[in-house]
Amino acid sequence: MVAPFPTEWPEPDTVLVVEDDDALRESLAHSLASICRQLRTAGTVADALRECAATSPDIILLDLGLPDGDGAELLGRLRQMTDAPIIVLSGRTDEDQKVALLDAGADDFLTKPCSVAELQARIRGQFRRVQVSSAARAWSQLSVDGVEIDLLAQRVVRHGQPQRLTPTEWALLRALILHAGRPLSPRQLWDIVWAREFGDFATHVRVHITHLRRKIEPDPSMPRLIVTEPGVGYRFAGPR
Ligand code: CA
Repeated sequence: MVAPFPTEWPEPDTVLVVEDDDALRESLAHSLASICRQLRTAGTVADALRECAATSPDIILLDLGLPDGDGAELLGRLRQMTDAPIIVLSGRTDEDQKVALLDAGADDFLTKPCSVAELQARIRGQFRRVQVSSAARAWSQLSVDGVEIDLLAQRVVRHGQPQRLTPTEWALLRALILHAGRPLSPRQLWDIVWAREFGDFATHVRVHITHLRRKIEPDPSMPRLIVTEPGVGYRFAGPR
């Protein structure tokens, strides 16, 4: 039995923390540094808008009490700029306020103070949701030059012929799709799909990629869905 999705997930590239309390902002930044590649911070409405425009964050953590403007209004403006999940960080919030914030585009709430573990879990949870839904969306629409692929139904038809993928090939395909647009190294694919410590991963991955391409590429001799990134690995190019 293969898990529905890989157990390892991409982490957000950029997290934006909007909080005017210096000590709290530093502490949040410290807690999140290990689960994202780039951490940006802002202490005012003006900084938050500037950072959001400049860095296109994958997740925004937003304190509502800011010195130069209304946090709820900022939430609405951020929502117009980005589809990234916005987690509202607040003191006590009553139900009416919560509903208003959800209407304005908030995705989740965290009540201060919160533990590092909870903070990280919420950030990861929101990011996974985005990854799964965007991957699933891309996948459900995938029909390229005589090849139809349905990840959720586990169905591939290539030039009129249903293809049988092995559990390993499905796992490989899922991993590539979930990271669509970003290359994965053979080592990363090995860790995600095989989850073994030892072995000739380079050969394993290369052989399985070759098998998979024969089943899902319109023309396996000129791969366009699973693209080789020389010196890096493989990238799922997705439907275009
Ligand atoms: Ca504040």
